[in-house]
Amino acid sequence: MNFPKRLLVFTLIAVLASILAAGGCVGQKEGGGEAGDISTVPGGTSPGNSKLVKSVVSSEYSGPEAPPAAGESSGKSKTEGPQASRTHLGVPAAEARTQPRGGKVAYLTFDDGPNSQYTEKILDILRRKKVKASFVVVGKNVKLNPSIFQRILADGHAVVNHTYSHDYSVIYRSPEAFLSDLGEANKVITQYTGKPVMLFRAPGGPDKLGPEFTAKLRSHGYISVGWNISAVDTDPRGVTQADVYNNIVSGLERVERLKLSPIILMHDGTQLATTDARPGSPLAIYIQNREATLAALPAVIDHFRSKGYTFAVVDESTPPAW
Ligand SMILES: [Zn+2]
Repeated sequence: MNFPKRLLVFTLIAVLASILAAGGCVGQKEGGGEAGDISTVPGGTSPGNSKLVKSVVSSEYSGPEAPPAAGESSGKSKTEGPQASRTHLGVPAAEARTQPRGGKVAYLTFDDGPNSQYTEKILDILRRKKVKASFVVVGKNVKLNPSIFQRILADGHAVVNHTYSHDYSVIYRSPEAFLSDLGEANKVITQYTGKPVMLFRAPGGPDKLGPEFTAKLRSHGYISVGWNISAVDTDPRGVTQADVYNNIVSGLERVERLKLSPIILMHDGTQLATTDARPGSPLAIYIQNREATLAALPAVIDHFRSKGYTFAVVDESTPPAW
């Protein structure tokens, strides 16, 4: 009788010990869960869990869509890589619908064409996306590519006079020389438009125009069209699709902080023979840059639309870039 009694006591102690041990394990598991894999948190009720859920939501949805935080530095977007851009592009339609609408207008501008390699590809994208843009054309390139110039007009885009020669050594010699070169471009343009184009963009940018140039051009009815966002797609070191996209996205953040209407500078030209480009040569980089702009353009358009913008062509009523 003694032996079975001892066995019973031993068994009871063993069962009790195993129950206690199991309770300890459960406690450890709960503690480990909070600090562990976020994906396993079931939207729990403890303060620790709700904090985690909030941080997951905000990291997914407070991308470039959200208004910039107060004091956010303009350099922040430069540190955002292509990953951040993809997060932005992945914004759900419901999120996009909450963006403010009404009167937000952006202006896409393409400089230095028409170009026989790239302009029509840009026109195809614009047609597909139902966007009107402005082509800042060089007179000598209109002369080289008249049918492409006519398609720009037929597709309903605007044209801006970018001088005939685009040659700094010619046009910046004097205000008269600049005026004369714009007139040369208009001789070619007028064959297709029926009237001269008085909107112009100075090669190299409006900053290259001194007060004498500005006064002279104004007195002849010319209206300057600048830009406030650059794709930087003429970088002699070469740019990628992601560079072009990120340059424009960060430029838009800056322009919005300054409460300006975005006028975006990209390039379709100039006209060059693009065969036999030696790797790393200026011509190869030129080709790479044009391809980068083409590749980035659809996502650029989507980005502006997701922020509530519509697109318009530049005209006399376009707000100044600065
Ligand atoms: Zn130019």
